[in-house]
Amino acid sequence: MIHAIKGMNDLLDEDALIYEKIIKTSEEVAKTYGYSYIEVPHLEVTPLFKRSVGESSDIVGKEMYEFLDKGGDSVCLRPEGTAGVVRAFIERKMDKAGVVKRWFYHGSMFRYEKPQRGRYREFHQFGLECFNIASVYEDASVIMILARIFEKLDIAYTLKINSLGSPECLQNYRAALRDYLTKVESNSDFKFCEDCAKRRLTNVIRVLDCKNDNCSKHLVNAPKLSEFLDDESRADFAKLQEILKDNGISFVIDERLVRGLDYYSKTAFEFESSEIGAKAAIAGGGRYDYLVEYLGGAKSYGVGFAMGVERVMDILKSKKLEQKPQNTYFCVLDTELLELAYKLVDDLRKAGKIINLSYDAKKLIKHLNTADKQNYKYFIAIGSDEASKNEVFFKDLESGEQKSIKYEVLKEIL
Ligand code: AMP
Repeated sequence: MIHAIKGMNDLLDEDALIYEKIIKTSEEVAKTYGYSYIEVPHLEVTPLFKRSVGESSDIVGKEMYEFLDKGGDSVCLRPEGTAGVVRAFIERKMDKAGVVKRWFYHGSMFRYEKPQRGRYREFHQFGLECFNIASVYEDASVIMILARIFEKLDIAYTLKINSLGSPECLQNYRAALRDYLTKVESNSDFKFCEDCAKRRLTNVIRVLDCKNDNCSKHLVNAPKLSEFLDDESRADFAKLQEILKDNGISFVIDERLVRGLDYYSKTAFEFESSEIGAKAAIAGGGRYDYLVEYLGGAKSYGVGFAMGVERVMDILKSKKLEQKPQNTYFCVLDTELLELAYKLVDDLRKAGKIINLSYDAKKLIKHLNTADKQNYKYFIAIGSDEASKNEVFFKDLESGEQKSIKYEVLKEIL
């Protein structure tokens, strides 16, 4: 038997319904904030991700599905959504024209990670990106979009926010952090872990992400990013907090919430949920005012987020979702009535009614049993008696009410 690749899952039945519900809810909310749908390819040239996600990141360093295509070009299955959207923005010269764009996307991302619950090699993100708006009100809006999505899906979360300041602030902070790490090691026997040693060379800020308890303990007194913020970043961060408070969004400030790369600036945020046991990040995002330039475009402001759909699905699966009954089960008692039923059903489908037509002719009671088992809302059967009077047998399976009704009335009842 041929199996699916490890860490890559089929999506069907109840999972597919939950997936659809998450995407539909997210789209609806994003649209109310002026965002519209964008689709970009799953496969892009490798340098796009090496530049945007950064060679020092685990994603590019260890996890990319990277290969040479038949033409000998190095390509990658996208590990995240922002890079492709930024490329599309630049390719259409919207950067040079200073166009304001608000786009949302959803689809598969690919990372060669160790598969486990909540961590897959093919997973889905719903994300959005806004270009050319400098106002911190948009940062608040992208956070509020997520808050509203989780509210609508009835998911409890913790929102963590931080400000990274400008690239200059980060530059100064990096130097201070490096000094601090050196001081800790020279004043004690303690050595930061191997990963941290690498991060110190490639991207020192990522030391703050270290999950090793010993490293964490020795980072408690590390310099704080907030001490390095310039006036504008400080004012924007204060304003962001004010907007969130005014709009009833609770948050905590997490000084260790960072994104390692230079083109991220000011707002950084993460939504966590502990509804499925251990705390897990369900979405993250922030401002990236230098990324468009970094990828060869003209200076353009940017802010966005990505939400992990599987993690949200896991939370919803752990709750009992009310199972909406399917719409209508339609059947015939005699084979020769199938053509008539087929036409009637087609008419109803044209009117947008959702109908499952059974092609088997069998006794009424047997059809009723099948419909009951499959959780239908309505049951309709045609026997020769009904057909001779242009009627069908109708039963509301929820209320139990049953009657004969004329063909013409069906559209109104279903
Ligand atoms: P990131 O692009 O790494 O900031 O991830 C954004 C969100 O995607 C995270 O908060 C997770 O919810 C989700 N995510 C990241 N990696 C995976 C993965 N391997 N499997 C499932 N979800 C993931």
